[in-house]
Amino acid sequence: LSTISEKVSSRGGSGDDSGGSRILVFVRLRPISRKEREAGAGCCVKIVDGRDVYLTEFATDLNDYLRLKRLRGRHFTFDASFPDTATQHDVYSTTTAELVEAVLQGRNGSVFCYGATGAGKTYTMLGTVENPGVMVLAIKDLFSKIRQRSFDGNHVVHLSYLEVYNETVRDLLSPGRPLVLREDKQGIVAAGLTQYRAYSTDEVMALLQQGNRNRTTEPTRVNETSSRSHAILQVAVEYRVKDSSNNIVNRVGKLSLIDLAGSERALATDQRTLRSLEGANINKSLLALSSCINALVEGKKHIPYRNSKLTQLLKDSLGGACNTVMIANISPSSHSFSETQNTLHWADRAKEIRTKAYDAHEEIQVPDSGTDQAKLLLELQKENR
Ligand code: ADP
Ligand code: MG
Repeated sequence: LSTISEKVSSRGGSGDDSGGSRILVFVRLRPISRKEREAGAGCCVKIVDGRDVYLTEFATDLNDYLRLKRLRGRHFTFDASFPDTATQHDVYSTTTAELVEAVLQGRNGSVFCYGATGAGKTYTMLGTVENPGVMVLAIKDLFSKIRQRSFDGNHVVHLSYLEVYNETVRDLLSPGRPLVLREDKQGIVAAGLTQYRAYSTDEVMALLQQGNRNRTTEPTRVNETSSRSHAILQVAVEYRVKDSSNNIVNRVGKLSLIDLAGSERALATDQRTLRSLEGANINKSLLALSSCINALVEGKKHIPYRNSKLTQLLKDSLGGACNTVMIANISPSSHSFSETQNTLHWADRAKEIRTKAYDAHEEIQVPDSGTDQAKLLLELQKENR
């Protein structure tokens, strides 16, 4: 995977003549589960050379497949593709470590996991105590980088963790009434959202796990997070630097880590009347995300962010001044073939999006608390007092 990391890190914000950089798209295959095996499922995905993904409907031998040239819509190439043996650390270091570095330089970054329910999104993002995921590894790396460079307590790290469920935004660190989204010059603000000041990694895993337990569950399956819930962790790093004329300036970099709702088509459920409303809303958020991605791919001037709460919140994580990473999670089970194919098609499309990440040096000239991010953070802090 180290060669993949090298290839990936050559992306850079300025290495592209259009002045933008495209979204990096990764695929992660999870191991087949015992339950799937017991149900007689075969493995229908093969990952070759850390990049290529082949979908083989009935666990066909890949060589037969290649010989028959039946690969239309069945072969995809991504920036990196992780086989089921990849560790949490492999995934973190290839997909997100570079963004943590950028955030420490006052830039924004975002990573989002997309895929059907059970495909491994929450495992990838949050992970377990034994195998912490991208959210925890990113924060750990952030603190260790801050310590290594003896930044003298100059860096302040704030965490917020929120959920979009049924077009309602909730604070996962402080459950209560739904939050209202407001748009002002600084962008979209969730009024009253907790900004938790983090001092070390140790407290973070417990905090995030508690937050995850606060995610909405189905009344019929109280121990399972609803597949319709989107979770967004935002890590804001605020610090002061001296600019060229020796003025102290404030800078903020923000990393957004997003565990999206299950991407499967609305399934028939036992409580259809209640669910149909929720189903429609979840479709609304994911459909809105798809339309934004399509509009971005086509280079449209108008991107329909306003169509859902999710896309409003992701506005500066998709098309704006942001380094964006998408991780498509897939199951190897032949019983999930069509979901996997949908996920791969969507991921393939997402490769075409271009984003423009600000160069870190553009922001050095901005006066104290003059950046949009700084204003936003100050405002949020005021609201939380
Ligand atoms: P999702 O959030 O996409 O619905 P989960 O992350 O909850 O899916 O994963 C479903 C199940 O598969 C969980 O029990 C999880 O622990 C397990 N799982 C997912 N990915 C992996 C992986 N890479 N290695 C081991 N177990 C995994
Ligand atoms: Mg999940």
